Order: sequence, then C-alpha cells, then structure tokens
Amino acid sequence: MKKSFLKTGVVSLVLALVLVISACGSNNNSSSGSSDAGKSSSKSSNSDAKIKIGFSLDTLQEERWQKDRDLFVAAAEALGASVDVQAANSDDAKQIAQAESLISQGVDILVVVPHNAEATAAIVEKAHAAGIKVLAYDRLIKNSDLDLYVSFDNERVGEMQAKAITALAPKGKYVYIGGSETDNNAHLFKKGAFNILQPLIDSGDIQVVYDQFTKDWNPANALANMENALTANNNKVDAVVAANDGTAGGVIQALTAQGMAGKIPVSGQDAELAAAQRIVEGTQTMTVYKPIKLLAEKAAELAVKMAKGEDVGADKKVNNGKIDVPSILLDPIAVDKSNIDATVIADGFHSKEDVYKNVK
Ligand code: BGC
Repeated sequence: MKKSFLKTGVVSLVLALVLVISACGSNNNSSSGSSDAGKSSSKSSNSDAKIKIGFSLDTLQEERWQKDRDLFVAAAEALGASVDVQAANSDDAKQIAQAESLISQGVDILVVVPHNAEATAAIVEKAHAAGIKVLAYDRLIKNSDLDLYVSFDNERVGEMQAKAITALAPKGKYVYIGGSETDNNAHLFKKGAFNILQPLIDSGDIQVVYDQFTKDWNPANALANMENALTANNNKVDAVVAANDGTAGGVIQALTAQGMAGKIPVSGQDAELAAAQRIVEGTQTMTVYKPIKLLAEKAAELAVKMAKGEDVGADKKVNNGKIDVPSILLDPIAVDKSNIDATVIADGFHSKEDVYKNVK
C-alpha cells in the first residue's frame, strides 16, 4: 500500500515535470512566433534568420527555365536560404495569385520572371506593401518601383542574331519571328535585330516580308507563323531571324516540310540541346548562349543580400517606364558550329556526346 502510494507520487512528479517542460517549449514557440511577426513587418532587420525566397516563374515549359530553377535553388541553398518555387504556365492572374500567396506566407524577398511585363507591376506593389523587395529575374517588370533587375544584355542578343544571319544572307527576303509581345525581352531582341537590319533595309539590300511576335513564345505558334510566311511568299524566303531556340524549332519544322531546312539561315537563342544538335547537323545557323549559371548565382547572391537589407551594388540603370531600375546585365555569347565546342560544351552546359548524338 505504502509502495503504491510512493509510486503514484513519483508518477505525479514526472507528470508535473513534463507539464512544466512543455509549457517552456510552448513559450519558446510563441516567442519565435512573435519574432517572426516582427520579421515580416521589417523584412530587412533580422539578418541571422534563414532567408526565405519566393521564386515566381512565368513557365517551366522550356528547357532553359528548368535549368534556371535548378541553378537558382542550388545557389540560394548554398547561401543558407530556402526557396519556394512557383510556375504560372503563362497565366497572368495565376502568377499574381501565386505571388500573393508567397507574400502572405512571409517570404523575405520575391524573385520574379514575369510572363507579362506590365501586369506583374501589381506584384511589386503588393510585395512592397508587405515590406518585401522584388528582383526581376531575366525579364524586366515595367511601370513599377522595382528594386533590382538582373539579366543579360538583351538588345545585344538581337544584334548577335541579325549579324550572324546577314553575314550569310547579305541580300534577300527576310522573315522576323519574334518572341512573346508581353515579354519586354522580346522587344529588346527585336530592337537589337533591327539595329542591324534597318541599314540594309534602307539600302534596299534586304526586305522584311513577314514580321510577327509569337504568342507565349510557343513553338507551335512560331510554326504556324512560318507556314504563313512561306505561303504568302511562295516559299521565296532567304533568311529567318528567330528570337529563340523554341521559335527556331517551329521555323525549321515549317522549312523541313518544304524541303528548305538547312538551305536558308535561321537564328536562335538559349543554346537548348535540340538547337545545339540542329547547329551541328546544319539546319540552324546559330544560337545565343547565355551562361545561366552566372545569372542564377548572381541573382541568388543579390536576393539574399537584399533580404538582409544589404547594398547590392548594381552598376547599371534600366528605365522601366516609371523609374531607373538598378540593374546588372551579363554578356551573351554568339554560338555557331565553329565555336560550339569551345563554349557550350567546354562550359559543361551540354555534353559533347549529347550535342553530336545524331552526327556521324
Ligand atoms: C528569355 C529567353 C527565352 C524566352 C522564352 C526570354 O525572356 O530571355 O532566354 O528563350 O524568354 O522563354
């Protein structure tokens, strides 16, 4: 009897201890909860906490964006940050809703690849209202108080495309297959291309017989546009400036159907594997290789700095229609058959085996 009394006493003591310890635990929780709340009202004040990055992408359909995602997440994690990735499948309303959800989950910084340069200004406004800064990744967000823009020199990309094509077709009928009209980059690529084409148009050496944007950068839309261009000109087309490798794929499919693939020059951009293969096989003239690893690493480094309230030291300014946005623009590299080994392959962007897979 006495023994069981003692046992009950010990059990109660243990229970009491457990209660005290768990009460302390819940105190800890609530104190970290309140410091979290403090963090969201002043995003830059807590530099020791793990930084949470919201990464909002237009799409993950193309090869390049999957690389961007993987490289960005790896770079951010190596810096001790975590990344929540969202992709909007070319849907403006979806991209805004996903960003709103990242904001309400309390991310410290938003990194955005906008589908629509204008519509995503709403994301910047909403983020700022919550004390969160926004970095535009690869594509500019227009008419907003955007905090930072990290990309390549996109006008130069267009110049590289047109230079390579005009070197092979200095005279004749040209088709311009542009990117998505909602993407500011598509306008920069076009501006760059026409910096080179316009003097030749003015001299009468070349004629642009077809010029269209490609809705959502979709290769199927580029294919349809190229079919229209060929039909309207009875296949009398001498060169195609296509804004990226996806659209070049559509163009080359249309040329193949007319027995014209490899007979006229076609440009591209992104050094996608399929395009690299077409270059060594001879159906695509060139691509523009943009070392995405540099972009992803730079953006991750600066996103973490911005989240901590540190200075990012951007050396350029790009006007977005509202402000001069602090910007970093990396250098693109023109690639054709002659330097593909020394660039894309030497960098490990693709293996030699993959690129030359169909070439004996
Ligand atoms: C990017 C290109 C890409 C295109 C389609 C542009 O904004 O700069 O690299 O090919 O979007 O996704």
